[in-house]
Amino acid sequence: MGMTKRIAVIDREACKPSVCNHLCKRMCPINRSGDDCITVNEADKKPLIDEDLCVGCGICSNKCPTLAISIINLPRELHETPVHRYGRNQFVLFRLPVPRRRLVVGLIGQNGVGKSTALKILSGELKPNTGMLGKSIPWDQIIGMFKGSELQDYLTKLKERGVKVAYKPQNIDSIPRMWKGKAGELLSKVDERGRLSSVREGLNLAPLLDKDLRSMSGGELQLLAVAATLLKDAGLYFFDEPSSFLDVEQRLIVAREIRKLSQDSMVMVVEHDLAVADYLADQVHILYGKPACFGIISKPQGVRTGINTYLEGYVKEENVRFRDESIVFSKGAAESLKTQAFLRFPAYKKSFGPFSMATEGSTLCKGEIIGILGPNATGKTTFINMLTGKVKPNQGVGIKDLRLAYKPQRIELGDEQSEMTVREYLAGEIDPGSKRSKRIVRVLELEKLFERKMGNLSGGEAQAVLIAANLGKDFDILLLDEPTAFLDVEQRLRVAKLIREVVEGMEVAAFIVDHDLQIIDAVADRVMVFEGERGKKGFGHAPTNLRDGMNSFLKKLNITFRRDPHTGRARANKPDSVLDREQKEKGDYYYS
Ligand code: SF4
Repeated sequence: MGMTKRIAVIDREACKPSVCNHLCKRMCPINRSGDDCITVNEADKKPLIDEDLCVGCGICSNKCPTLAISIINLPRELHETPVHRYGRNQFVLFRLPVPRRRLVVGLIGQNGVGKSTALKILSGELKPNTGMLGKSIPWDQIIGMFKGSELQDYLTKLKERGVKVAYKPQNIDSIPRMWKGKAGELLSKVDERGRLSSVREGLNLAPLLDKDLRSMSGGELQLLAVAATLLKDAGLYFFDEPSSFLDVEQRLIVAREIRKLSQDSMVMVVEHDLAVADYLADQVHILYGKPACFGIISKPQGVRTGINTYLEGYVKEENVRFRDESIVFSKGAAESLKTQAFLRFPAYKKSFGPFSMATEGSTLCKGEIIGILGPNATGKTTFINMLTGKVKPNQGVGIKDLRLAYKPQRIELGDEQSEMTVREYLAGEIDPGSKRSKRIVRVLELEKLFERKMGNLSGGEAQAVLIAANLGKDFDILLLDEPTAFLDVEQRLRVAKLIREVVEGMEVAAFIVDHDLQIIDAVADRVMVFEGERGKKGFGHAPTNLRDGMNSFLKKLNITFRRDPHTGRARANKPDSVLDREQKEKGDYYYS
C-alpha cells in the first residue's frame, strides 16, 4: 500500500492521438530531459503517465486539444492510501462511507466522485485493491485500513458471509426494459418480507398497480422503484436519488418510508435535493474531488453540520477546502423588477378521458422566469403544450408563431443520437460558434465531454447537454421540465444562474417546472401554482410573487420550512413542532 500524492488521469474516450500526434509526450519537460514520464501504450496507442516521475507542472493537460488529461496535486492532508483504483491513470477513490444500523446515512456532494465505486465495494461486487494495480490484496489487509470503525465489522461480514444489497438505481428508465407487465405484478414478485400492504399504503401506490410499466410517467416509475427496493430482504439498502421526478409531497412521503425502513436495517441514500436529504438522513458523508478523476468520502457528520459543511466548501476536521466559495441562500423572497409586458396568454380549459384541468390567463414580462410548482399529474406540462399550440385546448387559444425551446422531463435519446458525440449533437441543435453557446458550454463545463458519445453519458451529464441544447437556441419561450433531475447541488445552482442570464439577456420568457424548492427560489421571478387531484383534475393559478406562491403551495401541503441561520437553506419543520405552529399562525411557510 502506498500514499498517493499526485494523480494523473487520462480520459481514454476523449484522448485522440490521431488529432494531436502525442503532443503531451512531446511537451512534457521530464520527457524532454530524457526520462520516460509519458510513454505510449502499445495496445491502444494512447499515452500513459508515470505518476512518480511526473512533477505536476500541468503542461500536458493544458496542451491536450481534447482535454483528456487531468493532473491533480493532492493537498498534504489527503496524502493517504486509496481504497481503490480502477487502473493506470484511471479514477481513484479514497475512503468509504460507513453503513450504520438504525441510521439513514446520506451521501451528498458532487456527481462522478465515487458513489458507484463505493456501492460496488459495499455490495461485494468489487474487491478493493488499495491502489495496488493488478494485485489481489488480502481481505484482512483491507479490513485493517478501517480498524476501529463500523466499517471493520461490515467488511468482515462481507468477507465471511457476503451482504445482500437492495439497490434503487438512479436511472429508472431502465426498469420498463428489464420488466414487462403491470406494476402490481412486479411488486408482488419482489415482496421478500411480506410488507407489500404496508409499503402500498405508505407510498399510496393503489392508483399505479394496474398500470403497465411502459405507460408510466417518471414520477410513477420512481415510486415503483423505491417500493420495489423497500420490499426486498437485504442487509444494506441503497437508494440512488430517490426524489427525481417526484413532487414535493411525494418526496417527503418517500423520505418517511425510507426512514421507517432504517429502524431495523442499514440504509444509504444519495440525494441532491438538500431539503429532502436533511429530512431523510441522520448522518451524512460529503463526496468531493474531481469528477471522473478522484473522489474523497468525508468522515460522517450529523446531518445539519454535514450539509452546512458541504455548502461551505470546507471540511474543518480534515482541513480541506474543496470549493473556493461557500453557497449561501437568501432567506427572503426577491421581488421581481421586470415590468415590460412581453406576451399575454389566455385562460385555458382542457379535458381528456377522466382528467380535466383549467388554468388562469396572465401577462409575462420581458426576461421573466415563471417557476411552476404543484403535484404531478395536475396538468403542468399540458398547460405549456396548450400555450405553444402543441395541444389544442377546449377553451382558449395557443400563442401563435412562438419559437419554443423545450426540454422534456425524461431524456430519451434515439439510436442515432446515442451514437453521436456530444460535439456532433450540440452542433445539430445550436450554433456552437455563437457567443451565447460558447458561454453556456463553458459554464456547464461541457467541453470535456465533447468527444464522448451521447449514449455513454451519465444522467447528470446528459441533463447538462440537453439544457445547453435548449438554452443555446433562438427562442421566445423556454420550457424546462425538471432541469435539475440528476444534477448535483452545484450544477443546479449553476444552471439556475445561467437560465436567468440567458432569459434576461435575450429579453424572452421562461417556464421552469421543478420540485426542488430551493432552485425555484433561486431561478424564478414569480411562481405559478398548480393544485388538484393527481390524474383527475388540475387547476393552475395565474403567476404570483414568490412569497405568496410558496405560501399558498406549502399551505396546501401543510408543511413549513425554517431557515438555517448560517446558510439560509430551507429545513422542513417537524409537523406540530413549536416552529411549525408559529409559522403557520403567521402564514410564513417558506420565507422567514
Ligand atoms: Fe509531464 Fe507531469 Fe508535467 Fe504532464 S504534468 S507534462 S506528465 S511532468
